[in-house]
Amino acid sequence: MNDSLLERDKLSDEEWEKICRKCAKCCYEKIDIGDGQIIYTDVPCEYLDTVTRMCKIYGKRHEIEPDCIKLTENFIRQINWMPSSCAYVEYLKQKDTLQTVRAVESPKKRKRSKTRRK
Ligand code: SF4
Repeated sequence: MNDSLLERDKLSDEEWEKICRKCAKCCYEKIDIGDGQIIYTDVPCEYLDTVTRMCKIYGKRHEIEPDCIKLTENFIRQINWMPSSCAYVEYLKQKDTLQTVRAVESPKKRKRSKTRRK
């Protein structure tokens, strides 16, 4: 993943799409058994080409299959059923870690620069 993407608050649609590694793991049926536990099945969406792992109706997927949800940053933050190996899940985890590190470092840097001025 391009590290500069982690630095930005907002990505273009094209940049966001490029993060997906086209593994198609999100295109298989999942069962929520409660308590935050998800069972991943080997039953693919009827529109998934299981050989190429590409959606056969990608451009019109939301019109043809209403259950196919647009994956946005906010949406991925709200759900628990994306696989942990999903590139978007990894991206958001890295982005949050980077922001936490910056928030912790930032007062230290301010303190150091004040000390230098004296
Ligand atoms: S699981 Fe994540 S990385 Fe894999 S195809 Fe779905 S959105 Fe893309």
